[in-house]
Amino acid sequence: MRFVEEFRDPALAKGLLARIDAAARAIGATKESPVRIMEICGGHTHAIFRYGLDRLVHEGIEFIHGPGCPVCVLPMARVDEAVEIAEQPGVIFTSFGDAMRVPGTRKSLLQAKADGADIRTVYSPLDALDLARENPEREVVFFGLGFETTTPSTALTIQQAAREGVGNFSVFCNHITVPPPIKALLDDPHMLLDGFVGPGHVSMVIGIHAYDFIARDYGKPIVVSGFEPTDLLQSVLMVLEQIRDGRAEVENQYGRVVPEHGNPVSLAAIADVYEERPSFAWRGLGEIDRSGLRVRAKYAAFDAEEKFGIGYGARRARDVEEPDGTACAQVMTGRIKPTGCPLFGTTCNPETPMGALMVSSEGACAAYYQYGGRREPEVVE
Ligand code: SF4
Repeated sequence: MRFVEEFRDPALAKGLLARIDAAARAIGATKESPVRIMEICGGHTHAIFRYGLDRLVHEGIEFIHGPGCPVCVLPMARVDEAVEIAEQPGVIFTSFGDAMRVPGTRKSLLQAKADGADIRTVYSPLDALDLARENPEREVVFFGLGFETTTPSTALTIQQAAREGVGNFSVFCNHITVPPPIKALLDDPHMLLDGFVGPGHVSMVIGIHAYDFIARDYGKPIVVSGFEPTDLLQSVLMVLEQIRDGRAEVENQYGRVVPEHGNPVSLAAIADVYEERPSFAWRGLGEIDRSGLRVRAKYAAFDAEEKFGIGYGARRARDVEEPDGTACAQVMTGRIKPTGCPLFGTTCNPETPMGALMVSSEGACAAYYQYGGRREPEVVE
C-alpha cells in the first residue's frame, strides 16, 4: 500500500537501528544510565509496542509513555458528570466508543446505558447534530473529548448548530491541550527526561512552534513524528543526534503531514468557539493551568455545562480519589511501567478494566497487555 509500505521497509529500519546504535554509544547511553525519551502521544505508545521498537533499539534508550491519551487523563469526576447529564429525562447522550467503558466513581456510561439511559455511540459530532435534527423534542448532548486533533470538529459542529439554530444540541466540553502538561512534566524534578517524540496528529492542527518553549526554556530536543515504524525510528535518531551534538531544537520528522504553522482553518474555528479554562484537572497529573478549554459565552446555548447546570467540573474533580490499589497516576506520569501496577493483567485487563489506561485503545496499559503484557515488572524511578 502506497505511503504505508515504504515506512515499514525492513532494510530501512535496519539502517536506522544501526545509526541509533552508533548515536546511543556516542552519547554513552547504557541500560543502567539510559537516555529517557518520552513519546507524548498514545498512538506512538501503541506503535512502539506493536512493532517491538522498544526491544529493537539500543538498550540504553528508554521510552517513557506520556499523557497523550485523552480518555486516560479524563478525571473520574468528569465521567460522573457525563453520567449525571445522560441520566436526565429526555436526554440522548452521545459519545465516541472509547469513552463508554471508562469507570466513574458510580458507573461508566456503558453501565448507565444498561440502567436505562439513552446513550449512543457516534463516529463524529456531526452524527450527534443529525440526531438533534431528527429528534427536536429531545436534548442531544455530545461528549466532547480529546486534544487539538478532535477540538476543531466539535468547534465546527457548534458553529453549524448555531447557523441552523438547532437549539436542542450541546457539547459537554472536555477538550484539553498538549503543551501545558508537557510543561508540568518538565517542571517535575522527578521526571528527568532527555527528549521528546512529539505528537503527529495534534501538530497537524497546532504546528510545531507550540513546542518552542521545550527547546528554548528547558534545553530539551523534541521531534514531531509520524506513526509508522521507520517514522518513529527516524525520530528517535533525530532526538539522539541533537543530544549528541549539544543541540535542543524543535524538528519535524512528519513533514509530509504536519505544516510548520498548523491548520489555519482549524485554529480559527477553535479560537472562535472555545476559550481557555483557568485550570483543568488531569487524572494522574492534578490541576494544570490553562490546559482545558470551555465553550465561549457567545455559544452558551450549545454548552452542556450551562444547559444542565454542571458548573466547573474540574473543581469537583479534585475531591475524587482513584480506586484503591490502582497505579494509574504513576503510570500516567511515567514513574512506573504498566507492568509495575499490582493489578496489571489480573484484576485489571481489557475485559474488566479498573483504570482508563486499560480501556482506551491509546492507553499505555492496553498497549502493554496487547503486545508485551507478560514481561517482568520494571520500575523506572
Ligand atoms: S493496570 Fe489498570 S489499574 Fe493498573 S495502572 Fe493500568 S489501568 Fe490503572
